[in-house]
Amino acid sequence: MPKCEPFCPCGNHIRDFFLAAKSGDYELAASILYSVNPFPELTSALCDHERQCRGHCVKNRMGAPVEIPSMEAALGKAFPRPTAVKGINGKSVAIIGAGPASLSASYFLAKEGYSVEVFEKEQGIGGAILTGIPDFRFNKSALSSIEADLRKMGVKFHLGTKVENALELKKSHDYVLVAVGAEKENKAFLPQAEGIVGGLDYLRNPEKAGDAKTAYVWGGGNVAMDCARTLIRKGKRTILIYRRSRAEMPAAKAEIEEALSEGVELCELTNIKDVHLLNGRIDSMTLIKMRLGEPDESGRASFHEIEGSEETVPCEALVYALGEKPVLDLLIDASIEEGYQTSKPGIYLLGDARLGAKNIATAIKEGRQCAQEIIG
Ligand SMILES: Cc1cc2nc3c(=O)[nH]c(=O)nc-3n(C[C@H](O)[C@H](O)[C@H](O)COP(=O)(O)OP(=O)(O)OC[C@H]3O[C@@H](n4cnc5c(N)ncnc54)[C@H](O)[C@@H]3O)c2cc1C
Repeated sequence: MPKCEPFCPCGNHIRDFFLAAKSGDYELAASILYSVNPFPELTSALCDHERQCRGHCVKNRMGAPVEIPSMEAALGKAFPRPTAVKGINGKSVAIIGAGPASLSASYFLAKEGYSVEVFEKEQGIGGAILTGIPDFRFNKSALSSIEADLRKMGVKFHLGTKVENALELKKSHDYVLVAVGAEKENKAFLPQAEGIVGGLDYLRNPEKAGDAKTAYVWGGGNVAMDCARTLIRKGKRTILIYRRSRAEMPAAKAEIEEALSEGVELCELTNIKDVHLLNGRIDSMTLIKMRLGEPDESGRASFHEIEGSEETVPCEALVYALGEKPVLDLLIDASIEEGYQTSKPGIYLLGDARLGAKNIATAIKEGRQCAQEIIG
């Protein structure tokens, strides 16, 4: 197996489609790609290629990696996504959520003749790509083409429809897939107060930082980076507080570089120890310096406070992006098992809702594998 493949969270057969393209059979290359990943327009643009395929390409040793993302994008543009479906098989599937995990499951199930209905609380499809990733980073018109293709395959979308009870849908469908993502934001010790806003919440409504001239973002992942890059576009001095060092930041390296080149200031090895309110809104916060120690269970360097290094700074706006968890109340009494199927036959859990916040390529794999488990 080539070195890059184990690092593709979607499980793309990189060598096979690369060799097909190299031999000039681009149609075969595209069909190999689509057999695993129906949405190359998403993965080519949004995957963290430095940690995934490109970063592990053997050609790096010779100076430049194979441009897998560009190949994916070019094949996706040159060859339309296959939308042919087998005859209707009489089985019905309800999918809750319309993020990449759901869209991938919908694609593979519809292809096999399942009748698929998707229930999404937002007014559009795409999940975190629609509501989280800012427009300056990704052209959302790609989501309209995906929706059009899935509709062509017979998938029905019920947009603006929040599902409170997955078990209810099982009464009218053979299978129910719960792909509701991870939307509960970790708030740490932060109180409810004006000027303190969660990253997901902020990205949905970027006016929430108000007219503060300086804004702080707490965190080091993709959400933190998107918040910081949005705030700087709103003309604010933007300071990113991260408890480890830049090397440990989970955000894509390219995103960190973009943010810094746009003027976001990085305050690494620093944590927020406390926040201070005045008349119900944030007024200042106490920062503390950190040092790194031995790797912890996550494999990254542990972090420790440096006693006596506290400093209180004024703060009018704080956006926290400290990780997200799924909200699974709609599973009622169905409990989570090892695989996709829950304790209730026919009810499945997939994507970020199953694994916690991951990435788009993993969500596409989850959708494909869950569909395959149902198809058998
Ligand atoms: C700001 C941000 C930036 C990101 N950047 C990147 C990136 O650059 N690259 C990358 O690979 N990954 C990125 N990610 C992560 C990636 O977007 C997610 O891992 C991926 O979207 C998860 O897919 P999913 O289908 O499991 O869930 P989601 O995309 O979260 O979709 C879940 C859907 O379920 C809907 N839903 C929830 N509850 C209900 C309900 N009760 N009834 C009906 N509908 C419901 C939600 O509205 C949502 O549309 C980012 C995430 C965020 C938040």
